[in-house]
Amino acid sequence: MSSQNAPLKAPEVGISGKKIVYDKDGKPCRTCNSLLDFQMVTGKISPGAAVKAQQKLHQDPQSSTDFPPDVEQIGRSSWTLLHSIAATYPEVPDSQKQQDLKQFLKLFGNFYPCWFCADDFKSYMTKNEPKVSTQEDFGRWLCDAHNEVNVKLGKPKFDCNFWRRRWKDENE
Ligand SMILES: Cc1cc2nc3c(=O)[nH]c(=O)nc-3n(C[C@H](O)[C@H](O)[C@H](O)COP(=O)(O)OP(=O)(O)OC[C@H]3O[C@@H](n4cnc5c(N)ncnc54)[C@H](O)[C@@H]3O)c2cc1C
Repeated sequence: MSSQNAPLKAPEVGISGKKIVYDKDGKPCRTCNSLLDFQMVTGKISPGAAVKAQQKLHQDPQSSTDFPPDVEQIGRSSWTLLHSIAATYPEVPDSQKQQDLKQFLKLFGNFYPCWFCADDFKSYMTKNEPKVSTQEDFGRWLCDAHNEVNVKLGKPKFDCNFWRRRWKDENE
């Protein structure tokens, strides 16, 4: 086969420096990669243009808000939802509320749009059963779960003593 006809090798790493995630059918996963990595790997923009757009995004984070959400936007919005649920969960929930929250987390894991994020989150929940007996228990459990992802992504751990101040009441 001539080099002209040789199939293009799918890139393994994006301009973000992260591994490109592919769906089970071999296509790049839209909701598992950053927008620019996805656009670059699907040939919508050149690697050079992707690097320029990345620099622009650093200067103006709003510049990509009209695109479908990528792994980071989905993640930020989801953590906001989850921590806000913790902040409004009853201090001492009845058993129905506790069951409902466990069920919600299970379904959340089943429907989370980034498949490999969901797989890791579900396996975290299997090893570390969600603590739903009180608001404080759940807030801390969730903070630990979020820290697990932070560590995986090379981000600093959040001090869980401050979860209420971050998500419930800045004066706490
Ligand atoms: C269940 C789940 C699994 C994910 N798995 C992956 C994955 O495998 N790979 C991947 O690339 N992305 C994953 N993400 C997305 C990732 O966690 C981030 O949301 C994304 O990278 C954007 O990060 P960010 O720096 O904007 O802040 P985020 O991590 O989204 O955090 C938002 C805000 O929460 C606060 N915060 C940070 N840590 C904590 C904590 N421990 N407790 C309480 N508050 C905190 C901070 O104020 C921060 O600004 C996942 C998201 C979710 C919801």
